[in-house]
Amino acid sequence: MKKYSPQTRHIHADRLINKPEQGGVHQSTSNSVLFDFDQVEALESVFQGKTAGHVYSRSSSPSIVGLQNILCDMESGVASTCFATGMAAISAVIFSLLKQGDHVVVSHFLFGNTRSFMDSLADFGITVSYVDTTDAKQVEAAITDKTRLLFCESVANPGTQVSDLNAIGSICAKQRILFVLDNTMTPCVMFDSKAVNANLIITSLTKYISGHGNVLGGVVTDLGTFDWQSFPNIKPQYQVPDTSLWGMTQIRKKGLRDIGATLAPASAHSISVGIETLSMRMKMASENAMKLAAFMSSDKRFTLVNYPGLPLHPQHDLATSLFANQYGAILSFCLDESIDFRRYLNNLHLVLRATHLGDTRTLALPVASTIFHENGPQRRAEMGIQDNLIRISVGIENVEDLIDDFIQAFENIE
Ligand SMILES: *Cc1c(COP(=O)(O)O)cnc(C)c1O
Repeated sequence: MKKYSPQTRHIHADRLINKPEQGGVHQSTSNSVLFDFDQVEALESVFQGKTAGHVYSRSSSPSIVGLQNILCDMESGVASTCFATGMAAISAVIFSLLKQGDHVVVSHFLFGNTRSFMDSLADFGITVSYVDTTDAKQVEAAITDKTRLLFCESVANPGTQVSDLNAIGSICAKQRILFVLDNTMTPCVMFDSKAVNANLIITSLTKYISGHGNVLGGVVTDLGTFDWQSFPNIKPQYQVPDTSLWGMTQIRKKGLRDIGATLAPASAHSISVGIETLSMRMKMASENAMKLAAFMSSDKRFTLVNYPGLPLHPQHDLATSLFANQYGAILSFCLDESIDFRRYLNNLHLVLRATHLGDTRTLALPVASTIFHENGPQRRAEMGIQDNLIRISVGIENVEDLIDDFIQAFENIE
């Protein structure tokens, strides 16, 4: 496709990249699990990876390949693979690329379920070091000769810590460690992950990419920035002629085909429709978040406001250098302890009391008692999560309506 600006490309991607049948502007949903071949030799050839095609829809189908083409184009990668959820993408990457005896370095500011997943790797003989990824020195110090992979997020939820991505990218490149970045919080419209030398990008499609709280999905994209020949865990049968595809071939066989968390074809359609408005939604949600954070930090009843766009945020300058004039749409706050935060949240009329993020609607959640409940008080303290910390996923409503809602909720509780 001609190099239009991202906003334009996302709107026309399905039509221009996948060229749906009979002039359709959407790829049609493919319902077939099986695929028939006139000649058995052609079937054998697809099975052996000699020609492109589909044999069974757990491994691939036209709908999913269409979405993968769009997502790969968005990241300027070499290959993308979709999964049923973001967690399925994360677990598939880890289980297909690592083995017993390996060591990984992982951010300790992580999405709660990812943290829980990483905590179980010890049961499989894979050791994990958790480090503060806002400090590249801690990353470097944790690396051993067994370290195969580094995993972090761009902006953490709910604390909004920003990983030192440039420095981490250089360390990983120098030490030949695979840099896996969960980029769910800062999609490609606001952050160029190639510029920091990331290697594999994982994104929950459930969040900003689809954007409307009506579909689950995940994707991993190989940016083509890693030399797979230096990675000792690629099995001989996946060492295909194009060395840039070694990692993705193994992820597709071991992570998708064998584990089997395949994205549903109908979901691919919902996700590709969401992509059409991604730039617009991300820009609007980030602008709203900036205004909401500014309002909260000017009101003494909010004793803490975490948002990378605020000049007092510890990684504000880093965020400014990494992201394209947007700071994302997640913020978190604490109310003065004299205010009962549950009563405050119950007083919100417009803002939803709900888990999930990246939606068009603004959502509020107390995190210690919900998504980080399982972690216990000590782990929460290490992760910088206060008992009364509230996460807000800012949507694209009119921002004055949002601010009014956060003001009126103080009535009758002080
Ligand atoms: C939601 C989320 C995930 C998991 O995605 P699902 O699609 O819900 O499985 C992973 N990482 C981050 C940063 C997330 O916010």
